[in-house]
Order: sequence, then structure tokens, then C-alpha cells
Amino acid sequence: MRIAITGAGIAGLAAAIALASRGHEVSVHEQAGRLEAIGAGLQLGPNAVRALQSLGAWDAMAPRACAPDAILVHDARTGATRSSLPLGSRFEARFGAPYRVAHRADLLKALADAAATLDNVSVVHGQRLTGLDLSDLAAPRLQFNGTAQACDLAIGADGVRSLMRKSIAPGIEPRQTGDVLYRALSPASALPPGMDPDAVHMFLGAGAHAVAYLVSGGKRLNIVASVASAAPVEGWNALATREQVLAAFPGACEALHTVLSARANWLAWAAADLEPFNGWSKGHAVLIGDAAHATLPHLAQGAAMALEDAVELAAQLGDGEAVPASLARFEAARKDRTSRIVLGSRTQGRIYKMSGPAAIARNLAMKLMPPSRQIERLAWIYEG
Ligand SMILES: Cc1cc2nc3c(=O)[nH]c(=O)nc-3n(C[C@H](O)[C@H](O)[C@H](O)COP(=O)(O)OP(=O)(O)OC[C@H]3O[C@@H](n4cnc5c(N)ncnc54)[C@H](O)[C@@H]3O)c2cc1C
Repeated sequence: MRIAITGAGIAGLAAAIALASRGHEVSVHEQAGRLEAIGAGLQLGPNAVRALQSLGAWDAMAPRACAPDAILVHDARTGATRSSLPLGSRFEARFGAPYRVAHRADLLKALADAAATLDNVSVVHGQRLTGLDLSDLAAPRLQFNGTAQACDLAIGADGVRSLMRKSIAPGIEPRQTGDVLYRALSPASALPPGMDPDAVHMFLGAGAHAVAYLVSGGKRLNIVASVASAAPVEGWNALATREQVLAAFPGACEALHTVLSARANWLAWAAADLEPFNGWSKGHAVLIGDAAHATLPHLAQGAAMALEDAVELAAQLGDGEAVPASLARFEAARKDRTSRIVLGSRTQGRIYKMSGPAAIARNLAMKLMPPSRQIERLAWIYEG
């Protein structure tokens, strides 16, 4: 089949690899002029690593990823550690793959490198989708910068604000939560000496929480702060200041204050997700990744869901059935899991930002829960 994918993000590149590996002729059309190093850290749970392994992209990715040995949850004011989730060899043995963290740009580069080894994939930058014509359901026609392109299957991997979704599932729009996500990259030296460089650190405050861990082979510190009811922002790259971020954590403990005060260019994006919906495909056109099921980042599963989609879509299209039936089965296979991630991420974000008596109860529950129980609570995510 001739397959045209809109969007060279994680979903688009992963799908290109999975489908080209099964013999399809794949073109990927990306609006950005080149592969851009935008974004911050991504957590790659064992399910994401397994998907990368099955795409044949893990060998390129592994050297660019960092291997945290625990997720430590601290109180944003006192710095006290509320819980510790070990991610070492027992965790890896339990799920059959390791837990890693990486910069989004490194994952994109690893996927782009893997795609470049396949003769039947072309990735074209500077091509913006402006329209999708589905008047012949079996032969979608895409408009890129005003030029038409026909294909046997059109895949919308064009993110949370997908244009393809407007044709395939009209009326489905992103839901802004009112939270703002601030991100910054600092040199690794910004990590205070008392903070374990091999851990993912999470700080829980009232109405705000922050995550910090090393990426890029341990050279840079990735910091993301999620703040409720901050001033609205547009796009992925709105400029922000450290004063805005610090203001969300009044009375921050010394470690958190040091991390947030580091010299860095702060950027912000508005937290948004999609209410789970039915109808990811129409004729020979389908949505994957954030275009189908954008999620908040609080379970750290947006990239993982995109990678899993790619593997599943290629498997469903490989069974020789008619394309619409294969696409319906793809949605059926992915719907419950991705919906659970979307709704679970919302809940997790609320739990992280609790204040007053609710936060006290949360902290007690975290303290009483042994790590083995914490791991089993998350098993449905990492088993995949
Ligand atoms: C710039 C950027 C920064 C991000 N930073 C983070 C981060 O720091 N942490 C995090 O957890 N997640 C981040 N994400 C989201 C994360 O990458 C996704 O949630 C997840 O990887 C799923 O990816 P996706 O491929 O479905 O969508 P996306 O990653 O959103 O990729 C969609 C791609 O489609 C392209 N596109 C959109 N519209 C068109 C069009 N009309 N024509 C052609 N191309 C189009 C976009 O340019 C983009 O490359 C970021 C996404 C983007 C786009």
C-alpha cells in the first residue's frame, strides 16, 4: 500500500518504521522545516521500551537514554521523601524491559535514524497539511501546501490539534484543563549535591508539582512544573520566567528552590487532552497518537501510547483484511487502554496537586504503601 502519514512526531515516525518494515511504501509529511530539538524530557516505561525494541529502534535509542534507579516523591515545602519506587533490576525483571528517561529530541532522532535505514520510507519536511478529501473513502486525497497527494491509506499523526481529525471525527476538540506546564533544561550541575542524580525526583506542592531528572546522557537536567490555574498560554513554546514558576511553589524547600532557580530558558504550554471518543477512522484514513487520544503527562505515557499505536496498527493492517475492517480492529484494540491512560492521567494530576486534609491523607497512603504494592498498581501500564 502507498501510505501517507501527516506528522513526523513520535507517532508518525514510529508508524512509518512499523509499516515500512512490513513492505508498505510510506511517506511522512511534516510541517516543521527540519527535525527540531523541541520539547523536554520523556519517561519511557518498560512498555515504551518494548515497543521501541519491536520497531528495531531501541539500539539507536538506548545510548541516548538515562537509566534512573528510582522515582522519589518529595514534599515541595519540607523536601521530605514521601515515597520511593525502585526501578532497578527487580523492576526490569518484573516487566521484561527497563525504565528509561530521555529528551524528546533524542527519541525523535533515534526514530528518524531508524526510518532513514528503510528504503521504502521518505520523510519530507516543510509540508503542511491544509486539507483532507475523503469524498472517495478508499482513496484519500491530502493537500500539502496546496499540492494534492493521493494514497491508499492516510494516517493522521498530527498531534493534539490534528487537522486530519476535523475530517475524520468532526467536532472533537482538545480540552484545556487550565493548567500550565513549564519546562526548562539546565546543565546537570544545576542538580543540588544532596539530590540523587540517578533518580527521577518529583516534588508535590499545593496546586503545583514538579519533576526533575537528568537527560541527554546525564549532561542536562530536565525540569517540568505543572501549575493549576496559571495564565493561559498558546502553543508548545510560550516564553516563561523562573519567577512565574517559583511563585507556584511558595516556601519551596532548598532543593526544589535551587532546581527552579537554575539559569534556564523557561517555556510553557497549556495542558490539554482529548475526551475519549469513538471513530478514529473513516474509510482509508485513521488517527494515531495524540491526534486520537492526547493525554495529560501525569502518567508519563503520551509517547508510549504513540509507540504502542504504531506497533498495533502495523500488526492489524498485516492480516490481509479490508482496510476499514483492519482500522476498526486497531481502534478496538487500543481504545480501552488509551482511554484508561487519559482518564487516569487526569486523576493523577489532581492527586499530585492536592492541598489541605486531602494532601495529608494522600501522603499517609503513600507512606504506608510498600514499593511492591506501588509497582503492582502500575503493572497494567507497564505490562502493556
Ligand atoms: C513541539 C512539541 C514539544 C513537545 N514536548 C513535550 C515534552 O516536553 N514532554 C512531553 O511529555 N511531551 C511533549 N510533547 C508531546 C509528546 O511528544 C506527545 O504527547 C507524544 O509523543 C505523542 O506524539 P504524537 O506524535 O502523537 O504527536 P506530536 O508529538 O504532537 O507530533 C505531531 C507532529 O505533527 C506535526 N503536524 C501537526 N500539524 C501538522 C500539519 N497540519 N501538517 C504537517 N505536520 C503537522 C507537528 O509539527 C508534529 O511534529 C511535545 C510535542 C510537540 C509537538
